[in-house]
Amino acid sequence: MRSIIPDYVTEALAEVAPDISGEPAGYIPELAAADPERLGAVFATVDGEVYGAGDIDTEFTIQSISKPFTYALALADRGFDTVLAKVGVEPSGEAFNEISLEGDTGRPRNPMINAGAITAHSLAGSAELTPAERVERVVGGLSAFAGRRLTMDEVVCASELKYAHRNLAIAHMLRSHNILTEDPRTIVDGYTRQCSVLVTTRDLAVMAATLANRGINPLSGEQVIPEPVVRQVLSVMSTCGMYDAAGDWATQVGIPAKSGVAGGLIGALPGQIGIATFSPRLDRHGNSVRGVSLFERFSADMGLHVMEVPPAARAVVRFDHVVGRAKNAIRVIQLQGGIGFAAAERVVREVMDTAPTEARVALDLTMVYSIDDVARRMLLEVARRLTLDGHEVYLVDPESIIPDPDPGDGGRVTVVGNVEQLELSVSS
Ligand code: GLN
Repeated sequence: MRSIIPDYVTEALAEVAPDISGEPAGYIPELAAADPERLGAVFATVDGEVYGAGDIDTEFTIQSISKPFTYALALADRGFDTVLAKVGVEPSGEAFNEISLEGDTGRPRNPMINAGAITAHSLAGSAELTPAERVERVVGGLSAFAGRRLTMDEVVCASELKYAHRNLAIAHMLRSHNILTEDPRTIVDGYTRQCSVLVTTRDLAVMAATLANRGINPLSGEQVIPEPVVRQVLSVMSTCGMYDAAGDWATQVGIPAKSGVAGGLIGALPGQIGIATFSPRLDRHGNSVRGVSLFERFSADMGLHVMEVPPAARAVVRFDHVVGRAKNAIRVIQLQGGIGFAAAERVVREVMDTAPTEARVALDLTMVYSIDDVARRMLLEVARRLTLDGHEVYLVDPESIIPDPDPGDGGRVTVVGNVEQLELSVSS
């Protein structure tokens, strides 16, 4: 059988292809020369499958899509406090190259507009790096996200640098507020190099999938950035990634995203996939016209909006019954599915409503496939309170979904591999 996914992507591309509205970025002469007909889209799953259609191996410059990744490197290298002291996380609702800083602190409002991105570039790597070493930290970091060594388009870089007056103005303003502490020209030079890194749509999808996969590149297996950094970056992408179109995007597409003026667009759906599209004509916000249409379609067709409520899980309590008789009776509460806070709350309520009179109570986790930290702590607290109420508590946990269960102060649980073992212990 042929996979249905590339066929679906091909169909989506054909649907948006006739739309030739918008213009390639004009303010960087070399970008204006891009072939406006290019069109591609790629899905990369968090377990490393890559599907695509169209121009997926054509290289183009990453431009602003480098911003979330460089912000991630700065957070990983310098820590949250240092970075947050210099770059805010408030959506500005302004154009990407707006010359504006927070009135009181002089901080750029967020790392997705140029002011914040130029600052984030200056914070990548340790403070002692030379400008060239900093650029290498950034290109090396972007390469780790992509899973291959990326190169730079020197021609686009030189073309942008020649007309970088606006970014230079921003950088000088940042220097005057001591947000930048080095020579503004050197930092704009490094930032422009960062924007000139060449990527394909395939690379961008893998980079997005690395964010979707808790910071682990699904192809190389490398943990590129720590998990708390991923959460920070995805949050900022979802509120600020599409500049002054961020609100429309959040409601209509609902996938943390970032666009670049060369026509690239990425979206990262936590735990599921990274998506990338490429089409150079831009709308008035500087976002790819056909890229936005593709994302709208993907989100609607596949229910990818992050605020989409998942279908109701099957009841967490599968059975609640008594095995054995009289003083050998044991109450078995069998749970199922993935257990997070809401499901664990349901279990707490079940135990309270049942108010077991049996001396032995077992929580059967055989059919539970995941349990998060809060749910684990809640179930162990249930076990502890049952012990304090005089019950003998068992966990049926053949796959050690709760390894080394410790209910704490006064609690005690006995782990068994299956219900038969429990019944044996009853009759013996
Ligand atoms: N290098 C571009 C700039 O700084 C990036 C802007 C963008 O992609 N939105 O102007």
